[in-house]
Amino acid sequence: MRKNIVAGNWKMNKTLQEGIELAKAVNDQVTENDDIVILCPPFIHLTEVAKVINKKNLFLAAQNCASEESGAYTGEVSAAMVKSTCADYVILGHSERRSYYGETDEILNKKVKLALANDLVPIFCIGEVLEEREAGKHLDVVKTQVEKGLFDLSKEDFGKIIIAYEPVWAIGTGKTATPDQAQEMHKYIRDLIAQKYGDQLANDTTIQYGGSCKPDNAKELFANPDVDGGLIGGASLKAGDFVAIANAF
Ligand code: PEP
Repeated sequence: MRKNIVAGNWKMNKTLQEGIELAKAVNDQVTENDDIVILCPPFIHLTEVAKVINKKNLFLAAQNCASEESGAYTGEVSAAMVKSTCADYVILGHSERRSYYGETDEILNKKVKLALANDLVPIFCIGEVLEEREAGKHLDVVKTQVEKGLFDLSKEDFGKIIIAYEPVWAIGTGKTATPDQAQEMHKYIRDLIAQKYGDQLANDTTIQYGGSCKPDNAKELFANPDVDGGLIGGASLKAGDFVAIANAF
Protein backbone atom coordinates (compact mmCIF):
# COMPACT_ATOMS: atom_id res chain seq x y z
CA MET A 1 0.00 0.00 0.00
CA ARG A 2 1.33 3.43 -0.89
CA LYS A 3 2.26 5.93 1.82
CA ASN A 4 0.96 9.44 2.39
CA ILE A 5 3.97 11.74 2.32
CA VAL A 6 4.28 15.47 3.03
CA ALA A 7 7.66 17.08 2.35
CA GLY A 8 8.71 20.65 3.15
CA ASN A 9 11.08 22.25 0.66
CA TRP A 10 12.77 25.15 2.44
CA LYS A 11 14.54 26.21 -0.79
CA MET A 12 17.22 28.89 -0.17
CA ASN A 13 15.69 30.08 3.12
CA LYS A 14 16.80 29.94 6.77
CA THR A 15 20.28 30.34 8.21
CA LEU A 16 21.68 27.27 9.94
CA GLN A 17 20.48 28.52 13.34
CA GLU A 18 17.01 29.36 12.03
CA GLY A 19 16.82 26.00 10.31
CA ILE A 20 17.66 24.14 13.51
CA GLU A 21 14.91 26.04 15.34
CA LEU A 22 12.38 25.26 12.60
CA ALA A 23 13.31 21.58 12.59
CA LYS A 24 13.03 21.40 16.40
CA ALA A 25 9.58 23.00 16.26
CA VAL A 26 8.38 20.58 13.57
CA ASN A 27 9.82 17.65 15.51
CA ASP A 28 7.95 18.78 18.65
CA GLN A 29 4.62 19.26 16.85
CA VAL A 30 4.52 16.46 14.30
CA THR A 31 2.10 13.60 14.95
CA GLU A 32 3.79 10.21 15.09
CA ASN A 33 1.76 7.94 12.82
CA ASP A 34 2.15 5.99 9.56
CA ASP A 35 2.25 9.09 7.35
CA ILE A 36 5.75 10.19 6.35
CA VAL A 37 6.94 13.76 6.95
CA ILE A 38 10.14 14.99 5.29
CA LEU A 39 12.19 18.14 5.87
CA CYS A 40 14.21 19.38 2.90
CA PRO A 41 16.66 21.99 4.19
CA PRO A 42 19.68 23.36 2.30
CA PHE A 43 22.58 20.89 2.00
CA ILE A 44 24.71 22.52 4.67
CA HIS A 45 21.96 22.24 7.29
CA LEU A 46 21.38 18.51 6.87
CA THR A 47 23.79 17.09 9.45
CA GLU A 48 22.83 19.59 12.14
CA VAL A 49 19.10 19.19 11.50
CA ALA A 50 19.54 15.42 11.73
CA LYS A 51 20.71 15.85 15.33
CA VAL A 52 17.51 17.56 16.47
CA ILE A 53 14.84 15.31 14.97
CA ASN A 54 13.82 11.99 16.46
CA LYS A 55 10.18 11.30 15.53
CA LYS A 56 9.91 7.88 13.87
CA ASN A 57 8.08 9.22 10.79
CA LEU A 58 10.20 12.37 10.31
CA PHE A 59 12.96 12.16 7.68
CA LEU A 60 15.39 14.35 5.76
CA ALA A 61 15.83 15.12 2.08
CA ALA A 62 18.29 17.20 0.10
CA GLN A 63 16.87 19.58 -2.51
CA ASN A 64 19.17 18.33 -5.28
CA CYS A 65 22.28 16.28 -5.96
CA ALA A 66 24.94 16.20 -8.68
CA SER A 67 24.60 14.34 -11.97
CA GLU A 68 28.16 12.99 -11.63
CA GLU A 69 29.46 10.53 -9.09
CA SER A 70 32.49 12.46 -7.77
CA GLY A 71 35.48 14.45 -8.90
CA ALA A 72 36.32 17.91 -10.22
CA TYR A 73 32.87 19.52 -10.12
CA THR A 74 33.36 22.61 -7.97
CA GLY A 75 30.34 23.54 -5.89
CA GLU A 76 28.45 20.31 -6.52
CA VAL A 77 27.20 17.86 -3.89
CA SER A 78 27.09 14.18 -4.78
CA ALA A 79 24.39 11.65 -3.99
CA ALA A 80 26.89 9.75 -1.80
CA MET A 81 27.60 12.94 0.18
CA VAL A 82 23.88 13.54 0.68
CA LYS A 83 23.42 9.99 1.91
CA SER A 84 26.32 10.40 4.35
CA THR A 85 24.46 13.24 6.12
CA CYS A 86 21.60 10.93 7.23
CA ALA A 87 19.25 12.13 4.49
CA ASP A 88 17.11 9.35 2.99
CA TYR A 89 15.44 11.30 0.18
CA VAL A 90 16.40 13.81 -2.49
CA ILE A 91 14.20 16.19 -4.50
CA LEU A 92 15.10 15.98 -8.19
CA GLY A 93 13.75 17.96 -11.12
CA HIS A 94 12.13 20.79 -9.19
CA SER A 95 10.88 23.35 -11.71
CA GLU A 96 13.32 25.93 -10.33
CA ARG A 97 16.20 23.55 -11.11
CA ARG A 98 14.77 22.83 -14.56
CA SER A 99 14.20 26.47 -15.49
CA TYR A 100 16.99 28.42 -13.69
CA TYR A 101 19.76 25.82 -13.92
CA GLY A 102 18.95 24.16 -17.22
CA GLU A 103 18.33 20.68 -15.86
CA THR A 104 17.05 18.61 -18.75
CA ASP A 105 15.22 15.29 -18.66
CA GLU A 106 18.51 13.60 -19.61
CA ILE A 107 20.46 15.21 -16.74
CA LEU A 108 17.65 14.34 -14.34
CA ASN A 109 17.63 10.74 -15.48
CA LYS A 110 21.34 10.52 -14.54
CA LYS A 111 20.64 12.08 -11.15
CA VAL A 112 17.80 9.65 -10.47
CA LYS A 113 20.08 6.70 -11.15
CA LEU A 114 22.87 8.06 -8.96
CA ALA A 115 20.41 8.75 -6.16
CA LEU A 116 19.07 5.21 -6.32
CA ALA A 117 22.58 3.74 -6.50
CA ASN A 118 23.34 5.58 -3.26
CA ASP A 119 20.20 4.40 -1.50
CA LEU A 120 18.41 7.74 -1.69
CA VAL A 121 14.73 7.88 -2.62
CA PRO A 122 14.12 10.44 -5.37
CA ILE A 123 11.15 12.80 -5.05
CA PHE A 124 10.86 13.40 -8.78
CA CYS A 125 9.11 16.66 -9.72
CA ILE A 126 7.14 17.13 -12.91
CA GLY A 127 4.67 19.72 -14.10
CA GLU A 128 3.65 22.05 -16.88
CA VAL A 129 3.99 25.83 -17.22
CA LEU A 130 0.94 28.05 -17.67
CA GLU A 131 1.23 28.39 -21.47
CA GLU A 132 1.36 24.61 -21.79
CA ARG A 133 -1.80 24.20 -19.72
CA GLU A 134 -3.58 26.95 -21.61
CA ALA A 135 -2.62 25.29 -24.88
CA GLY A 136 -4.06 22.00 -23.62
CA LYS A 137 -0.61 20.36 -23.67
CA HIS A 138 -0.25 19.68 -19.93
CA LEU A 139 -0.84 15.93 -20.15
CA ASP A 140 1.70 15.53 -22.97
CA VAL A 141 4.33 17.61 -21.14
CA VAL A 142 4.05 15.53 -18.01
CA LYS A 143 4.06 12.29 -20.01
CA THR A 144 7.36 13.27 -21.64
CA GLN A 145 8.92 14.23 -18.29
CA VAL A 146 7.92 10.90 -16.74
CA GLU A 147 9.00 8.84 -19.75
CA LYS A 148 12.38 10.51 -20.23
CA GLY A 149 13.16 10.93 -16.55
CA LEU A 150 12.02 7.58 -15.19
CA PHE A 151 10.76 5.00 -17.65
CA ASP A 152 14.08 3.30 -18.35
CA LEU A 153 14.27 2.23 -14.68
CA SER A 154 13.79 -1.39 -13.74
CA LYS A 155 10.54 -2.29 -12.03
CA GLU A 156 12.42 -2.68 -8.76
CA ASP A 157 14.01 0.77 -9.01
CA PHE A 158 10.82 2.46 -10.17
CA GLY A 159 9.13 1.05 -7.09
CA LYS A 160 11.32 3.30 -4.92
CA ILE A 161 10.35 6.55 -6.65
CA ILE A 162 8.04 9.25 -5.25
CA ILE A 163 6.49 11.55 -7.85
CA ALA A 164 5.57 15.17 -7.12
CA TYR A 165 3.17 16.74 -9.61
CA GLU A 166 3.77 20.46 -9.39
CA PRO A 167 2.02 22.66 -11.95
CA VAL A 168 4.62 25.41 -12.36
CA TRP A 169 1.91 28.11 -12.51
CA ALA A 170 0.87 27.16 -8.97
CA ILE A 171 4.35 27.24 -7.37
CA GLY A 172 4.77 30.23 -5.06
CA THR A 173 1.97 32.10 -6.83
CA GLY A 174 -0.90 31.58 -4.40
CA LYS A 175 -2.81 29.93 -7.27
CA THR A 176 -3.59 26.33 -6.43
CA ALA A 177 -4.72 23.66 -8.86
CA THR A 178 -8.34 22.82 -8.17
CA PRO A 179 -8.89 19.43 -6.56
CA ASP A 180 -10.33 18.27 -9.92
CA GLN A 181 -7.27 19.47 -11.87
CA ALA A 182 -4.96 17.74 -9.40
CA GLN A 183 -6.99 14.51 -9.44
CA GLU A 184 -7.14 14.46 -13.26
CA MET A 185 -3.37 14.74 -13.57
CA HIS A 186 -2.55 12.34 -10.72
CA LYS A 187 -4.86 9.71 -12.21
CA TYR A 188 -3.27 10.27 -15.62
CA ILE A 189 0.22 9.78 -14.16
CA ARG A 190 -0.89 6.65 -12.31
CA ASP A 191 -2.36 5.27 -15.54
CA LEU A 192 0.94 5.92 -17.35
CA ILE A 193 2.76 3.99 -14.63
CA ALA A 194 0.23 1.16 -14.87
CA GLN A 195 0.73 0.88 -18.65
CA LYS A 196 4.50 0.72 -18.22
CA TYR A 197 4.96 -1.23 -14.98
CA GLY A 198 1.55 -2.76 -14.18
CA ASP A 199 -1.34 -1.96 -11.86
CA GLN A 200 0.32 -3.13 -8.67
CA LEU A 201 3.29 -0.79 -8.95
CA ALA A 202 1.05 2.08 -10.10
CA ASN A 203 -1.15 1.61 -7.04
CA ASP A 204 1.88 1.51 -4.77
CA THR A 205 3.45 4.75 -6.11
CA THR A 206 3.07 7.87 -3.97
CA ILE A 207 2.13 10.89 -6.08
CA GLN A 208 2.34 14.19 -4.21
CA TYR A 209 0.78 17.48 -5.24
CA GLY A 210 2.79 20.71 -5.02
CA GLY A 211 1.85 24.32 -5.70
CA SER A 212 0.60 26.80 -3.08
CA CYS A 213 -0.61 24.04 -0.81
CA LYS A 214 -1.59 25.59 2.55
CA PRO A 215 -3.34 24.49 5.75
CA ASP A 216 -6.66 25.77 4.38
CA ASN A 217 -6.60 23.85 1.07
CA ALA A 218 -4.59 20.73 1.95
CA LYS A 219 -7.56 18.69 3.18
CA GLU A 220 -9.51 19.22 -0.02
CA LEU A 221 -6.51 18.35 -2.20
CA PHE A 222 -5.47 15.28 -0.18
CA ALA A 223 -9.05 13.97 -0.19
CA ASN A 224 -8.64 13.04 -3.87
CA PRO A 225 -8.10 9.30 -4.35
CA ASP A 226 -4.88 9.74 -6.34
CA VAL A 227 -3.33 12.59 -4.30
CA ASP A 228 -1.03 11.04 -1.70
CA GLY A 229 0.31 14.13 0.03
CA GLY A 230 2.18 17.25 -0.88
CA LEU A 231 5.49 18.90 -1.64
CA ILE A 232 5.24 22.16 0.24
CA GLY A 233 7.30 25.30 -0.38
CA GLY A 234 6.31 28.55 1.34
CA ALA A 235 4.08 26.98 3.98
CA SER A 236 6.90 24.69 5.15
CA LEU A 237 8.78 27.66 6.59
CA LYS A 238 6.37 27.92 9.53
CA ALA A 239 6.26 24.84 11.74
CA GLY A 240 2.58 25.29 12.64
CA ASP A 241 1.45 25.59 9.03
CA PHE A 242 3.61 22.71 7.86
CA VAL A 243 2.43 20.37 10.60
CA ALA A 244 -1.19 21.37 9.94
CA ILE A 245 -0.70 20.31 6.31
CA ALA A 246 0.94 17.05 7.41
CA ASN A 247 -2.14 16.41 9.57
CA ALA A 248 -4.57 17.08 6.72
CA PHE A 249 -5.13 13.46 5.66
C1 PEP B 1 7.51 24.07 -4.41
O1 PEP B 1 8.36 24.89 -4.69
O2 PEP B 1 7.75 22.86 -4.53
C2 PEP B 1 6.21 24.55 -3.95
C3 PEP B 1 5.20 23.73 -4.02
O3 PEP B 1 6.16 25.83 -3.50
P1 PEP B 1 4.88 26.58 -2.87
O4 PEP B 1 4.25 25.65 -1.89
O5 PEP B 1 5.45 27.80 -2.20
O6 PEP B 1 3.97 26.91 -4.00
